[in-house]
Amino acid sequence: MTNNYNNSAILSEYNHDKYIDFRSDTVTMPSFEMLQTIQTAKLGDDVYDEDIEVLELQQYAAELLGKEAGLFFPSGTQSNLTAILSHCQRGDEALIGRDYHTNLYEARGASVLGGVGICPIDMNENGGLVLDDMVSQIKEDDPHYAVTRLLCLENTVSGQAQPQKQIDALAKAAHDRGLSVHLDGARLFNAHIHSGLSPKELTENCDSVSICLSKGLGAPVGSLLVSSNEVIVKAKRIRKILGGSMRQVGVIASCGMYALKNNIARLQEDHDNTKLLAQGLSEIPELEVDYGENQTNMLFVNCPKQHRASLEQYLFDNHIRIDSLDRGRMVCHLGISEKDIKSAIKTFQQYFIS
Ligand SMILES: *Cc1c(COP(=O)(O)O)cnc(C)c1O
Repeated sequence: MTNNYNNSAILSEYNHDKYIDFRSDTVTMPSFEMLQTIQTAKLGDDVYDEDIEVLELQQYAAELLGKEAGLFFPSGTQSNLTAILSHCQRGDEALIGRDYHTNLYEARGASVLGGVGICPIDMNENGGLVLDDMVSQIKEDDPHYAVTRLLCLENTVSGQAQPQKQIDALAKAAHDRGLSVHLDGARLFNAHIHSGLSPKELTENCDSVSICLSKGLGAPVGSLLVSSNEVIVKAKRIRKILGGSMRQVGVIASCGMYALKNNIARLQEDHDNTKLLAQGLSEIPELEVDYGENQTNMLFVNCPKQHRASLEQYLFDNHIRIDSLDRGRMVCHLGISEKDIKSAIKTFQQYFIS
């Protein structure tokens, strides 16, 4: 055990003690045990395909999701972008849910860097796409139109697990019309725990899937794209173009492997904590809590405008961090215990009493 690892573990406990951080599950810190895997990591130059940790992780993820091959990425944004550019040519078009990450929160990289047009599709209240709306946006073979090449789905969407029948029907309709299907599964394992369906069952009708290791699974960095051998060969060249090929990157891949092997089942605790938080907060008459039956690890609090700024400050002063009450998103993750949830509920109650 070296000082560095001790320091990291202390740092993570320090942060954890100091704040209950509901802003996102991206704030999760690697555990001591996870960091220990770095010490024995079998490293090599991954651009030469010689980093054993990365090769093993890519294979493990591909098998877990029932695909032929996997590719390790520094971020989910790069993994999604690479997937879109692997499926589409310049001038092609991708259909994407209007509020999905690949449409809104990735700075339109597919258009900026790949010349791929994006056609946003309206979403229903559960974050899903309506089949007819999606199909109606697939363009005919006509020189006036872009070539519709790809459908991008997402699961979970703002924490909501998507009904599998719906995902499968959308994917089938897209395939029948010659499109490929990419799934942004940044939080796919939350959907897996919620639904009881295996990761493979969740993704079997999707041609490629991106997963994040750095959210609820608690790894410090990393995402994976899994797909067919053919797509992954293209993806590898695009990752190189994007500057995402890394060297002794087994130092983080080992943490990712730890995350996949140890931190999936425990997501249930986060879901239970979210439910507890939703119950507690909905007993406060001033608050309106949005927590649907397909929710996993997020809820949304609607707080009257006149209270927002002062409640935010009150929470902050009491060591609770939250995004902003305008949006009101609260996310549960492995840095938040049941005790933290009870204490957070009490703090909200105290604000409205005082
Ligand atoms: C976080 C996230 C991503 C990827 O984000 P990075 O920060 O680039 O890893 C992609 N899709 C969704 C839905 C996400 O929540």
